[in-house]
Amino acid sequence: MSTKNFDLLMWVSSILCLICVSYGFDPIDNYLIDCGSRTNEPVGDRIFVGDNSDSSILSTPQKILANTTLEITSSPYNSTLFQTARILDGPSSYKFPIKKHGRHWIRLYFFPFIYQNYNLSTAKFSVSAQNITLLKEFQIESGPQVKEYSLNITQSNLTLTFTPSSNSFAFINALEVFSLPDELIPKSAQAIVTDNNYSLSNKALETVERVDMGNKSVYPQDDTLWRLWVSDDTYLIHNNLAKFVSNTTAVNFTTDWVTDIIAPSSVYGTATQLDSESDPNTKANVTWRFDVDPGFEYLVRFHFCDIGSMSSSSISFNVYINSMLVVRNFDLSSQSGLGVPYYRDVITRSSDSLKLNVSVGPSDIGNSYPNAILNGLEIMKISNSKGSLVLESDLKKSSKMKVGLIVGLASGMFIAVIFAIILFVLCRRRRRRYAHVSHSKAVENFAPNEMENNSPNRAAIFSSSKFGYRFPFLAIQEATDNFSESLVIGVGGFGKVYKGMLRDETKVAVKRGFSHSQQGFAEFQTEIEMLSQFRHRHLVSLIGYCDEQNEMIIVYEYMENGTLKNHLYGSDLPGLSWQQRLEICIGSARGLHYLHTGSAKAIIHRDVKSANILLDENFMAKVADFGLSKTGPEIDKTHVTTAVKGSFGYLDPEYLTRQQLTEKSDVYSFGVVMLEVLCGRPVIDPSLPREKVNLVEWASKSLKREQLEEVVDPHLAGQIKPDSLMKFGEIAEKCLAECGVDRPSMGDVFWNLECALQLQGNERRSSCAGDLSSQVSHVNHLEISVSTAQFSVGDIAGISMSKVFAQMVKEDTR
Ligand code: ATP
Repeated sequence: MSTKNFDLLMWVSSILCLICVSYGFDPIDNYLIDCGSRTNEPVGDRIFVGDNSDSSILSTPQKILANTTLEITSSPYNSTLFQTARILDGPSSYKFPIKKHGRHWIRLYFFPFIYQNYNLSTAKFSVSAQNITLLKEFQIESGPQVKEYSLNITQSNLTLTFTPSSNSFAFINALEVFSLPDELIPKSAQAIVTDNNYSLSNKALETVERVDMGNKSVYPQDDTLWRLWVSDDTYLIHNNLAKFVSNTTAVNFTTDWVTDIIAPSSVYGTATQLDSESDPNTKANVTWRFDVDPGFEYLVRFHFCDIGSMSSSSISFNVYINSMLVVRNFDLSSQSGLGVPYYRDVITRSSDSLKLNVSVGPSDIGNSYPNAILNGLEIMKISNSKGSLVLESDLKKSSKMKVGLIVGLASGMFIAVIFAIILFVLCRRRRRRYAHVSHSKAVENFAPNEMENNSPNRAAIFSSSKFGYRFPFLAIQEATDNFSESLVIGVGGFGKVYKGMLRDETKVAVKRGFSHSQQGFAEFQTEIEMLSQFRHRHLVSLIGYCDEQNEMIIVYEYMENGTLKNHLYGSDLPGLSWQQRLEICIGSARGLHYLHTGSAKAIIHRDVKSANILLDENFMAKVADFGLSKTGPEIDKTHVTTAVKGSFGYLDPEYLTRQQLTEKSDVYSFGVVMLEVLCGRPVIDPSLPREKVNLVEWASKSLKREQLEEVVDPHLAGQIKPDSLMKFGEIAEKCLAECGVDRPSMGDVFWNLECALQLQGNERRSSCAGDLSSQVSHVNHLEISVSTAQFSVGDIAGISMSKVFAQMVKEDTR
């Protein structure tokens, strides 16, 4: 077929497409080629043109058309496109005239089959477009596979070059090159953590994942731009936390900004959301995990749409990539109305990791019902500074070694092994030295200045899941105005704490360890390990950390109102009301309860004190400082034996004398905090008369005599209702019991504190009245088989109320 005929055919097919497509997108440049085919192939509303011609579009040294009779049943794409292939027995290129400058998609279809002497699964070749390497030393052993790239074309032609590796050949089954709507790919996007605005204009993108949430796939024929959206179920981790929902009719494209070009209604109309029905207090996230190549930047597009599946009218949640906050308290209901699609693009970097985790989880705003939703997700790899989308190490993996290469590689490996042994010996020596001498040397073991930035061992102290939290030192310097003294908000045993601001205007507290801090490195490590595992409204959130240049820096969410301690005594801050104090106690008790019960093994905080309870702008309490925390005993053990650590005045006497640590040690310390809250004075005050120096000893006497009024903070005079005070005193006394077994659990503590709040006259939980009868009737209504005779308002240790409370909360939210 001549060039003219080919062009005519392309023209006719374009016309046919136009006729077929009654609505939808009509690309200006539109090349659809069924490679190796002698006929044209209609695929849905489009026609793929056979390239059996030696037209100007294809320059190839030989004309080899291959075909197979193999039935392809496993592909979501039209299987006939895979049944023929163009074999390219030397460097060859397809050249496409371009009418519209801007982004174009290139889709390459591959399916290896055997044709005469050609086994396509042995073919090895590279593909480039303009100056961008799309595939290098590519080999496909089984198929079918479709690769998708987007390039910004500013020339009048797009040249797609296939270069076989030596002694090999290339092949291609089908090709799509078409211009994209301008609005589809932005010119820039927001980078999380570092750059504000990341320019994408001259970058090529490779679609790594395109996922439809809600356990449903959307096939090319149902998508405006003939995209494949695969179902999210295989990417979900812990899918018992997820619920699949669908309501396509709710989708309403009312804005010009988000149309079905961005994603079709079938994508926005299904979603995966947090299943919080079984646990209305859940702080769990729904997480999907994807494979990525290390060292690349990725454009991640989140698709959201409130399809009316949430029980609450306001949908507010957090969005994370690798545990790094992308959006905090994302209020979907205010961003777009019911059924109105919305999307957000961010740039992230894969660093050393081979995995990229995307999560949505409950927000930390007030008491909103926990919810979180995601409708779709796209992950696009961004070409690197060398203009490549290919991971170099893959080349080494896939290349079949020739004799010369074997020698080179073998000697390279020999050197690498020697190097690894030296490194291992050095590391061991350093670690020993660290154990005996000081932490600062140990920090060098993973400090980046000692290893290549892309070394996978660089952050060996933390598991890979913590990589997402790692901040560059520069970002921290910038956030704290280079650790300006004017931004210091506190100094603790670990180091100074600075107020800082990230580029996205998130306020943070930056704790920078003294280089020779006593508390040091182990605490730094524990704090990050613990905080990166837990997220709870009443635990202070970890935003990141930095271990560059021997630094030990931890970045936390900023707590506007500082420590509880500062609001109780020793400062000029206005005093807290009784109700505020009760709410703060309830919040921190909840945080501790979560620590004790939120994972398979309890976490014991070990340093519960009023200085470690922080208050946000609404005086909501969050427990902080996990540097001393420890994993609790194995199920078959009652305690952990460990050296005594903690803060003087708060230490559980049982732990102090027997070094046996249990969750009840935290309960004791919490009892001390309750006394601080009640009395508004320090735990130890040597300036007072002898009998008053120790708060616990002093207040306990009044507790026993039921004369609590004697010790109440004068700021609270006349504020506390007697029942509330009595209840509070009972709880504190139980917490301070000599023996751990006699102390209540933190769950029991927060439940009873709720009662103390209720007795103060706060009506927020009608279920917790001051008399037994209403409590009992509520419990009966919930059909919980608890003997009503077993508990009374005065009894907090006799029965575990945690389960009862959990049920009540559930009831409340219905
Ligand atoms: P230590 O750690 O030795 O027991 P500490 O708990 O007082 O003592 P840090 O945790 O280092 O010491 O905190 C020092 C001070 O920094 C706190 O008293 C508080 O005022 C402030 N601070 C700490 N974290 C935050 C935060 N996330 N937001 C706001 N301020 C904070």
